[in-house]
Parts: sequence; C-alpha cells; structure tokens
Amino acid sequence: MRLYSTLARRRQDLDPLEPGHVRIYSCGPTVYRYAHVGNLRTYLFADVLCRSLEYLGHRVTQVMNITDVGHLTDDQFDRGEDKMLLSARQEGRSAEAIAEFYTSAFLDDARLVNIRPAEHYPRATAYVPRMQELIARLLERGHAYEVDGTVYYDIGSFPDYGKLSRNATDQLLAGARGEPDPRKRHPGDFTLWKAAGGKRLQVWDSPWGPGFPGWHIECSAMSTALLGERFDIHTGGADNVFPHHEAEIAQSEGVFGHRVVGCWMHGEHLLLSGARMAKSAGNFFRITELGEQGYDPLSFRYLALQARYRAKLNFSVDGLAGADRALRQLRARVREWRGGPDGPRGDFDGRFRSAISDDLDLPGAMALVSELTRSDLPAGARASLLLDWDRVLGLDLGRAAPEQAAPDLPDGAADLLARRERARESRDFVASDRLRDELAALGVRVTDTKEGQRWEVARR
Ligand code: AMP
Ligand code: ZN
Repeated sequence: MRLYSTLARRRQDLDPLEPGHVRIYSCGPTVYRYAHVGNLRTYLFADVLCRSLEYLGHRVTQVMNITDVGHLTDDQFDRGEDKMLLSARQEGRSAEAIAEFYTSAFLDDARLVNIRPAEHYPRATAYVPRMQELIARLLERGHAYEVDGTVYYDIGSFPDYGKLSRNATDQLLAGARGEPDPRKRHPGDFTLWKAAGGKRLQVWDSPWGPGFPGWHIECSAMSTALLGERFDIHTGGADNVFPHHEAEIAQSEGVFGHRVVGCWMHGEHLLLSGARMAKSAGNFFRITELGEQGYDPLSFRYLALQARYRAKLNFSVDGLAGADRALRQLRARVREWRGGPDGPRGDFDGRFRSAISDDLDLPGAMALVSELTRSDLPAGARASLLLDWDRVLGLDLGRAAPEQAAPDLPDGAADLLARRERARESRDFVASDRLRDELAALGVRVTDTKEGQRWEVARR
C-alpha cells in the first residue's frame, strides 16, 4: 500500500513497525460544539483508511483523542479564550457537562455515517499528569523555558521546526505581528503550559504553579501514551498541519530524540460555496440536519467517497441529492441480485485492491462499482463483490431499501424476479417475457433498464 506523506511530500510504501499491525493516531474533535459535515469528512477519511488496511489484511489499532481542555479560540498564536470555557459560559453549564454532551453527540454523528469506533478515545483532561511529564522532559532537554508559571516551547532549539508545514520563521514572525507576547524568546514559540492567571476553572497544579496544558502537548502525550514512542500513521485535517502537528513533531521528537510518526496524512477540507466549512464562520451543516431533510446520512458518505481525500470537495445539496439517489439505487440492485447465480468474478477484486492501495483512490473504487453494476458478471457474483467492497465503502449496501422492502412483494414474486434475472442473463427472452407476464398478474410491474430490471408493486 502506498500512502502520501505530508512530511515527505510524496507517496511512501507503508511499512508497519510491527508487520501486519498498523497503529494510527487520529486528531479528534474539540468537544465544545456539534461537529459539522466538514469535520466528519476528516474522520471519514481516517475511517476509510482503517477499513482499507483491514480489507488488505492488516490489523489496525486506532486512537482518536477527545480535546476537552486547552484549545484556545486563536490557535495559531495561542491567544484568546479556551473554547470549552467559552461554550460553558454561553450555555450556562460546566465545562465537564459541555464535554460530555458534545462527545456523545460526536459519537452519535460518527455512527450515522458508519465511522467505526476507534479502539480508544482518550480525553485530554485524563492525561494532564503525562503532559506535565513531557513538559518537564522538554525543560530538562533545553527545548522549553518557563516565565511566570507559563512554559513555552523554544522553537529555536529544534532546527527541524517547520519541516512539516515548510513555514519559514519569518512567516511566523509576520503572523504574530500586532501583539507579540513579550515573554516569548521568539514570536513563534508556543505554549506548553499556561499559568492560570485569574482563571479558576479547568486548572491543575503543576511544578510551575496552577495552570492548564496547551492544545498541542495533549496530542504528544496521548498518542505516545497509547501507541508508544513510535507508531505508523497520524491523521488530521489540512488545517492541523500548522501549527498543531508542526508543534507535535517538535514536542514528541524533542522528548524522545527520534522520529515518532511514520507517515503524516492530512485530509483536505469540505467547502461550502467555495469557503471552508467552519463552525466559527457559521457556514455549516450537521449530519442530523441532512437526515431531517430526508437524505440518508450515508449519502454524505457516498458523496465523500467520490473525491480523493487530498482534494478539496465542494458540498452542495444538489450533489447530496444525487448521491442519495445513486445510493438507494445501488442498494436496490444488491437486493435484486443477491441469491442470484454466482460465478467467476474476473479481476474486479484485484482492481479494487489496487485502487485502495493507491493512496486510497476511492473515486477509482467507486468507478469500479459502476463498472461492475454494468458488467456481464452473473448477478450473484455482482452482489457478493459489492457486499465485500462495502466493508471498505461502509454504505450499508446490504440494507433492505425501505421503499422496496421484501414484505411489499406478493408471495412468489421474489422468486419470479430472480428467475427472470437469470433468464435475462442467459439471454432467454422468451422465458423472460413469460416471467414478466406472470409478475404482472401478481401486480408487480417490471421494466428493463440498461442497469438491469427494475420493479414496482402496483397499488391495490
Ligand atoms: P475541530 O473540532 O475544530 O478541532 O476540528 C476537528 C477536525 O475537523 C480537525 O481535524 C479539522 O482539521 C477538521 N476540519 C475542520 N473543518 C473542516 C472542513 N471544512 N473540512 C474538513 N475537515 C475539517
Ligand atoms: Zn491533535
């Protein structure tokens, strides 16, 4: 399998540290608001990665963090208010209540689009002692300094700083223009531990006095606590490259003195009318809203599978409606073809495996789905292949479509339909026409399309 590494800027062969077992850390949500479908696109990419690895025979251990402290409203230059406390204030609830509520909303939303649960969902607030340990090691090793109870990472001490994002130091300077923090040695230095100041909520004791962790150190602490000093893949959204992951590399490598992550992978953004879908800009949809409008939530998954994860994708309700129709039709096919005659499957599965191995070429895999539905493979073989592939696609292709649920079919009709499908396959048009008449007598109207037979039950 070849995967694109943001750090190496090219595709690399996947070479797991432990053969046959891939360990993945995925940057998870900050649980201060509902996730939108843009966020879900990033988690879907990680889900498809895990599913593809398993399809190709690997065992996968995935960790996804839940950020419930330390993520400030201006995360470029660690300024502003903690997002959790901001939300707690606005909603008149405790930060803990906010975290619990939005964590469970996130897990519900993820389930709606068939994102399989990670092995572990560590909460940042449960790892504060470990974060303090890492910060102490960074101080010992000369990568950090303390000023009035706040500990900063000294980016000047880590010559590789910038290697992931290629952010030059002067860009960092320019970005901090306006109100540089006079206590920082370099305006690009970032906070590892922030002194509580007047703050009383979400504050922990530490060797540097009461305070709370910076967002970046959380991921260094949780990833290495659960996956070890070296692991295979780290995922996130494109906006996580800088500063979040750049800082994570400086911290983790600063502590351990060696490379920690084998491959950094980033999913591109979902756009709405050309702009990044964002909570703060208010231009977003929740997956439940799409469901309320009558779309199958998995039609969003279908839509996401039609773009490469490294390409931006424009969201539109029209696009979603098209995906919804295509998905329902595909499920109807599978229902119709299941139980039909099996037979040789050609090279379809090999080509599917090549597509997903090629840096997760899901549009290529979806093109194979259409090709297969139009192919002359026997119906049963088509259905089994689609159901196999659905382990990666996660579209519930085996689900009975409610509009054509089996009980709606009069007795005996399912059998006649299957026989007619077989007759058509063996180009026995006399039999196929006779079966069509028999079905009509039962009130089932059949039409032939180039994708196969369609049927509907006449209202009585
Ligand atoms: P947040 O909860 O804001 O920390 O974001 C959670 C994840 O969603 C991060 O990995 C972001 O990179 C990702 N993300 C945010 N906005 C978008 C978007 N419009 N499209 C895709 N991913 C996004
Ligand atoms: Zn992270």
